[in-house]
Amino acid sequence: MTDSEDHLDGEPTEADRIALAELILKLRANGVRDRRVLGAIEGIPRRLFLSSRHQALAYADRAMPIDCGQTISQPTIVAMMTEALDVQPHHRVLEVGTGSGYQAAVLARLAREVYTVERYRSLKRYAEDRFNALKLENVETRIGDGFEGWPEQAPFDRIVVTAAAEEIPESLVAQLAEGGVMVIPVGASGTVQDLVKLTRANGQVERSSLCAVRFVPMVHGVAERL
Ligand code: SAH
Repeated sequence: MTDSEDHLDGEPTEADRIALAELILKLRANGVRDRRVLGAIEGIPRRLFLSSRHQALAYADRAMPIDCGQTISQPTIVAMMTEALDVQPHHRVLEVGTGSGYQAAVLARLAREVYTVERYRSLKRYAEDRFNALKLENVETRIGDGFEGWPEQAPFDRIVVTAAAEEIPESLVAQLAEGGVMVIPVGASGTVQDLVKLTRANGQVERSSLCAVRFVPMVHGVAERL
């Protein structure tokens, strides 16, 4: 048992609302402009995605540790990646790397359906508890190797990878619909990676570079324990 298993109530408290309003100001100061993205973030108490010993920093603009040696991304990075995806209400989105479920919850407020893949069973379970607490009914979670994407549900309008890959996995690019956008950190772990945006248009895939980021690595296969 970890404290992530406590019963969750998804309703933001007054303290959450105040902290979220401050976080939104911070994101705006950092250049995030998309109102839908800011609105989605403002509606999700990030506190729910952190264990009790990290609650005090739940609304700080920083990455925080979660179980299994993984991290929940910094809110500014979540916001920038979501903004770069330009998610529309009819979109079906694939996320690789569920982690705490925070990025998926933000996406669920913007998209029609979110499919999120995680290699650790316990992380998947906790994330599902959070989606239930938030009454997010358009998120599907599964255990799998994100290098393979989610072929049964492909193609996707948007794909976001929240772990760093040394090379862009071709299997994921193949699951991107025409007109689709994919955002993925590319580079070796333990270094700064390049946040790359791929756009598929007229059968071609165009690549551009957004900024430098630091993510945990994408790892092959499903985790055997946890
Ligand atoms: N999006 C998360 C942050 C995740 S950290 C959040 O909002 O909290 C990256 C996650 O990617 C970790 O949970 C890690 O276990 C997962 N991961 C790494 N390689 C993977 C793979 N091949 N398939 C699925 N998940 C993977």
